[in-house]
Amino acid sequence: MDSPIDEKMNEKIDELNNKKESFSLGHYKNINIEVHFSWFFVVILLTYSLATAFFPLYFQNFTKAEYWIISVIAALLLFLSIFLHELSHSLTALKNKIPIDKITLFFFGGVSSMDDSNITPNKEFKIAVAGPLFSFILAVLFYGISIYFTNKYVYAISFYLTRLNLMIALFNLVPGYPLDGGRIFRAIVWKITKDMRKATKYAATAGKLFAWTLIFLGVFIIISTNNFSGLWYIVLGLFLVYLANASYQQVVLRDILSKVNIEEIITKEITPINYELSLRELAAKFTSSAQRCFLVNKNDRLVGFVQSEFLKRIPEYKWDVARAEEIAVNIDFIKIQLGTPLHRILGYMLFRNLEYILVVDKTKVLGIVEREKLMNIIKING
Ligand SMILES: [Zn+2]
Repeated sequence: MDSPIDEKMNEKIDELNNKKESFSLGHYKNINIEVHFSWFFVVILLTYSLATAFFPLYFQNFTKAEYWIISVIAALLLFLSIFLHELSHSLTALKNKIPIDKITLFFFGGVSSMDDSNITPNKEFKIAVAGPLFSFILAVLFYGISIYFTNKYVYAISFYLTRLNLMIALFNLVPGYPLDGGRIFRAIVWKITKDMRKATKYAATAGKLFAWTLIFLGVFIIISTNNFSGLWYIVLGLFLVYLANASYQQVVLRDILSKVNIEEIITKEITPINYELSLRELAAKFTSSAQRCFLVNKNDRLVGFVQSEFLKRIPEYKWDVARAEEIAVNIDFIKIQLGTPLHRILGYMLFRNLEYILVVDKTKVLGIVEREKLMNIIKING
């Protein structure tokens, strides 16, 4: 990366994008380990179903309290297994010089958020394979424990974890994007066709096909056996459909915007106005010029930003007394450092509902990017 990126600003964007959806467990090798709030719900449900269904089915001679204790341990060890699966993806990525800033653990798995702007099919292949491979290793390890130790609790727990790690490995190998198998599939198609977008499209379609199969299977189980465990398949299927769509769109968006140079869309001529200007005068400026926004100057310093829509915030009869300063937004709120990828800029604008954003080089204002321009580029190329 050759342009300076204000790390603090980017952190702030990430923070805003992930507002209250997860909490941090700590750091490992500069990777922030986060747990999504939905995880609590799943872990409670899982412990409950283990204590009342799974363990009583396979192991009959336990007391009620014992079922609950081994269920809690098993659920936590499953969580650890999922974490290690995710960590092997992340460490492989780091080894291949792909930066990872965090791992979010949630509903049935995790997501490593990596800066994959320098990813190649070969690297993606290695990173995707690492997770399921580690889950296989864990399955073998727990199988070993289950035969080596004669303690009935250890046996019950490792019996469960052998099965689950094996399931995690196999499930993730299903060739539907964004599952690991889908990434492996994408890496192969990408390597052959040299077209990342096309490869993602195939892999995402395979992912949706698999997800719909799960949904129909779930419905079938419920109808034919009256067993509501089919609901798991439906929830998982719907979740995967959503993921396949969302991740494909994200890839398309990034792909389109990565080909756009910010110089092509930035508006450099933005006249500053004085903060003391009355809203009446400002309204006249909007009418007389073609500009839809102005920068606000106070004692030779840029302090704010106004756009024509902001005038509506103050009733017109007050326009002679109200000043531009009163409707301006703080410049810090809408500025972004040069070098921030455009898809990230768009994400920030959508998240904060901004029509315009100021691009700055350290403290120097370079110009304004309009959301509409970005949206048009996506519409034309999408
Ligand atoms: Zn994985």
